[in-house]
Amino acid sequence: MEKIQMVDLQTQYLRIKPEIDAAIQRVLTSAAFIQGSDVKEFSNALAKYLGVKYAITCGNGTDALQIAMMALGFEPGDEVILPAHTYVATAEVIALLKLKPVFVDVDEKTFNLDVEQLGSKITNKTVAIVPVHLYGQCADMEPILNIATKHNLYIIEDAAQALGAAYTFSDGKKRMAGTMGTIGTTSFFPTKNLGCFGDGGAILTNDEHLATKIKMIASHGQTKKYHHETIGVNSRLDTLQAAVLNVKLKYLDEYTLKRSEVALFYDAMLASTAGIEVPFRAPNTTHVFHQYTVKVKGNRRDDFKKYLSDNGIPAMIYYHIPLHMQKAYLYVGCKEGDFPVTERLSKTVISLPIHTEMTTDQLEVISATIKKYF
Ligand SMILES: *Cc1c(COP(=O)(O)O)cnc(C)c1O
Repeated sequence: MEKIQMVDLQTQYLRIKPEIDAAIQRVLTSAAFIQGSDVKEFSNALAKYLGVKYAITCGNGTDALQIAMMALGFEPGDEVILPAHTYVATAEVIALLKLKPVFVDVDEKTFNLDVEQLGSKITNKTVAIVPVHLYGQCADMEPILNIATKHNLYIIEDAAQALGAAYTFSDGKKRMAGTMGTIGTTSFFPTKNLGCFGDGGAILTNDEHLATKIKMIASHGQTKKYHHETIGVNSRLDTLQAAVLNVKLKYLDEYTLKRSEVALFYDAMLASTAGIEVPFRAPNTTHVFHQYTVKVKGNRRDDFKKYLSDNGIPAMIYYHIPLHMQKAYLYVGCKEGDFPVTERLSKTVISLPIHTEMTTDQLEVISATIKKYF
């Protein structure tokens, strides 16, 4: 049996090596390393895949969030609501732009923004809500969008972990993660569901005016070369990464299916294991299982993690320290106790190995090892 890994990017690459190598070779031969034809081709293919009008590629998922917020023209001091249980990038860009991060607790079952608590966070300074589709499952977008409409707020969806997930509205309409808000953002970091061979990101919108602005900001604020209309940044997806993504996008559905199969296997093996709680599936969204995150009961999570590691099984904790308790974000003025669910999750969640190359042998070993513990 192959060594169990959190992700197995080598095997994934080897499976499509000829196609990837050919794509990379084409870029090397063309020497169009920046803005080669693959970049445009990929952004068109991504937009088509997601059913969104514009996909603007950029350097990474963090830049994508920052550019989205710059494009919406927020002013220093404006408040942006985000979940307390998320990756630091979401809060970081808000802080960098001198906006005020306003944390909201998450739902214990879905790990996503607790819609019930959103209303109490809205003030006359609130300009936007950033729902994060954590671990691969969409936040409850319909009520979030309704609240945003009512209060005239923008929605920036952080879809870095949920590319390919679909949300179903009460009228039956389905929309892909990242395409429901004013702007959506995603990341092609190698371990994300659609990963490139370095850094990459994209910004999604259906608004033509915003798309133009986003393109301009990502490219030094210029409309024409050397004509700078606004202060921008330099954030690009390079051609090599776009070439890799053009190949891998074709496999995304297959990859998602594989992840779902792994998740179903875990569900079946672990559902009846006392001491562990398998991921909840919200009824109105698909789950693309960027992570398979379980909750460990009875204060045993860290001991369980060590046990797994001693038995050759890697596991990760997303996230150990809630954002409001991170040193860099203490200035926001929150304290321990402010977000009880997030704080509890930081002590109970653990993500098991899940990737596109897992074998039944590996899954059986992991499940048996886990069962032995509980
Ligand atoms: C990965 C991630 C990002 C940032 O993406 P990078 O490409 O690493 O900058 C942002 N938000 C979430 C929720 C993420 O998981």
